[in-house]
Amino acid sequence: MMVNGEPALSCKSFLRDYPDKIRIEPLAHFPIVRDLVVQLDDFMEKLNRVKPYIIPKEKKSVSDGQHKQSPAQLKAFKQYTLCINCTLCYAACPQYGLVPDFIGPAAMALAHRYNLDSRDGGRDQRQEVVATDEGVWECSFVGACSEVCPKQVDPAGAIQQMKIASTVDWYKEHLMPWSKP
Ligand code: SF4
Repeated sequence: MMVNGEPALSCKSFLRDYPDKIRIEPLAHFPIVRDLVVQLDDFMEKLNRVKPYIIPKEKKSVSDGQHKQSPAQLKAFKQYTLCINCTLCYAACPQYGLVPDFIGPAAMALAHRYNLDSRDGGRDQRQEVVATDEGVWECSFVGACSEVCPKQVDPAGAIQQMKIASTVDWYKEHLMPWSKP
């Protein structure tokens, strides 16, 4: 919800921290269903579009055993697994408020999470959604999403890393076409 104008987890907001006055409102930038209840269908649809799950790099049967990862491979994406889909970052993002087609912070941080997973081979599919005008290039790096995130996911950082990776893709495709697998 919005607590005194700021997106915050209402379950972790204590009255004792607001001794003067407290004003609670429905989460910003989402349609209101009633009272404090908002409609999150837009976020769910965008989350679905970035395929937030492992698309296996190589097919393995159960008898082949586990998909092992080193601690370093886990560390590469662990921060982005902490997202609880609270959508506070969407309520804080002025760009999402202005451009509702923007894929938005949490969905892109989760796309980044799976792109960085050593077991995943779905980056090309996700790039079709995130390396677009509605994806990473709509972000103007205000950074408010990371400031309000209660789990320190840093979606703003994830989006900037994706911008760099997408730029490298572009240069490779146009200047080094032979390097494409
Ligand atoms: S990135 Fe942070 S603020 Fe955004 S939905 Fe995930 S946990 Fe919530």
